Amino acid sequence: MFILSVSRKVKTTKESTKRLGSKSVRVIGVSSYSTQPLTSKDAKDKYKLVIVGGGTGGLAVASQVQKSVQDVCIIEPQEKHYYQPGWTLVGGGIWKKSSTERDEGSLIPNGHTWVKDKVSSFQPDDNTVTLEDGKKIGYDFLVVSSGIQINWNKIKGLEETLGKNGVCSNYSFDVVDKTWKFIQEFKGGRALFTQPNTPIKCGGAPQKIMYIAYDHWKRSGKSADISFFTGMPGIFPSPHYGEILKGICKERGIDVNYKTNLIAVDGDKKEATFMDLDSNKERKEKFDMIHVVPPMSAPKYIADSPISNEAGYVDVDKGTLQHNKYNNIFGLGDSSSLPTSKTAAAIASQAPIISEKLSALIENRTATKIPPYNGYTSCPIPTGIDKLLLAEFDYTLRPCETFGRLINQDLPRYDMFLMKTLGFPWMYWNGLVTGGWWKGAMDMKQRFPFLNKPHLNPKDAPPS
Ligand SMILES: Cc1cc2nc3c(=O)[nH]c(=O)nc-3n(C[C@H](O)[C@H](O)[C@H](O)COP(=O)(O)OP(=O)(O)OC[C@H]3O[C@@H](n4cnc5c(N)ncnc54)[C@H](O)[C@@H]3O)c2cc1C
Repeated sequence: MFILSVSRKVKTTKESTKRLGSKSVRVIGVSSYSTQPLTSKDAKDKYKLVIVGGGTGGLAVASQVQKSVQDVCIIEPQEKHYYQPGWTLVGGGIWKKSSTERDEGSLIPNGHTWVKDKVSSFQPDDNTVTLEDGKKIGYDFLVVSSGIQINWNKIKGLEETLGKNGVCSNYSFDVVDKTWKFIQEFKGGRALFTQPNTPIKCGGAPQKIMYIAYDHWKRSGKSADISFFTGMPGIFPSPHYGEILKGICKERGIDVNYKTNLIAVDGDKKEATFMDLDSNKERKEKFDMIHVVPPMSAPKYIADSPISNEAGYVDVDKGTLQHNKYNNIFGLGDSSSLPTSKTAAAIASQAPIISEKLSALIENRTATKIPPYNGYTSCPIPTGIDKLLLAEFDYTLRPCETFGRLINQDLPRYDMFLMKTLGFPWMYWNGLVTGGWWKGAMDMKQRFPFLNKPHLNPKDAPPS
């Protein structure tokens, strides 16, 4: 019913069929634009607004300023855009990989220019960016959302064996389907899941796939000896949800190892080498299957530029998302310095703050009052193939839940699993990266103050 009523409202041109468990479900994808890319040679020398990166953050801002700002240029090198949160479901055998992919041109708003190229450096004192072929493009305002850099080469042997020998990762579209292949082929034995000690996109994704795999193997009667190795000192950034997840691991007999980084994989020998970050001692573990999340870092071209902070990310104010030195530059998403978990859900609450401020500056009016960004982020953690724990928190790391008034979000639930498989993707394609109307959980709670529920657990209450 939900899907049918939705399909009448959207200006959709594409529909795809995806697998949800054993059932077949029609999922709606929007594709109402067909913007053709320009080469750098054909691009103008200057635009009112330049957006670096046509991923989640870049497209969200682009769609929200579509009506208010003319002369917008998005610089994005890739022809395809990916719904990365869906890769957990692809790896877990719930979705087909093709349903996470759309043409970039179908998402770039009509009227905006798409330059299909890469920025190689920033000259904020001259209000220009330089493309890889040396062309400079000027701007009055600049938004940067160019994602986080994945350092596959930092794990010895990984690139040679990824997608073979039971070695897989949900962090690459190219090999994400191998995760499901290896989960299916697993005959029982030792399964390892890893997380590095660096910032990563979606802090929960390294363990999401572990819970899905556990559930598949349990249902098919396979005996799995599962270990989670994380370079972090805790299982999850928010201690409240961390306790719940630790309980789930304990109950399922999953062995959790902290401050232990994967440093090498030998696919032929089926052996992984870990480094204990306290003792600096190496330890070898045999595996039948290993899911790897590689270390990540700020993109080098940003880290080397004058717009980065010490850690290499775009140096922005954590409330206004405006650059700490250059007033006409804004940053959001994974490449920003915002000290919160890097997710699309966080971007949904970040983009409206930038879009409104930019529109007001460009239209020469006072900006509508929007509360400063509070670090809202969300991590939907499937705990199996039909249940999900929806973790939502802010800069304080305490729960800041959207549905807590209506349901107990401390429990893994089927309704939240349906949000992940049906609700969130629909909102992403139709309201966030196109449409411009999905302005995140912070905006929803401002419109419906009833949803602002103090969490029941007193230790999670904000300081008075
Ligand atoms: C396995 C997995 C599971 C996830 N699960 C969830 C989830 O359940 N919920 C959730 O909210 N989030 C989840 N995420 C995280 C979410 O997908 C990201 O946080 C989000 O997409 C980041 O958006 P972004 O705009 O910062 O970067 P991206 O969407 O990665 O976009 C960056 C863009 O910049 C472009 N670019 C790169 N370099 C340059 C350059 N030099 N010049 C110009 N353009 C450039 C890239 O081509 C890319 O298109 C998950 C991610 C993964 C990988």
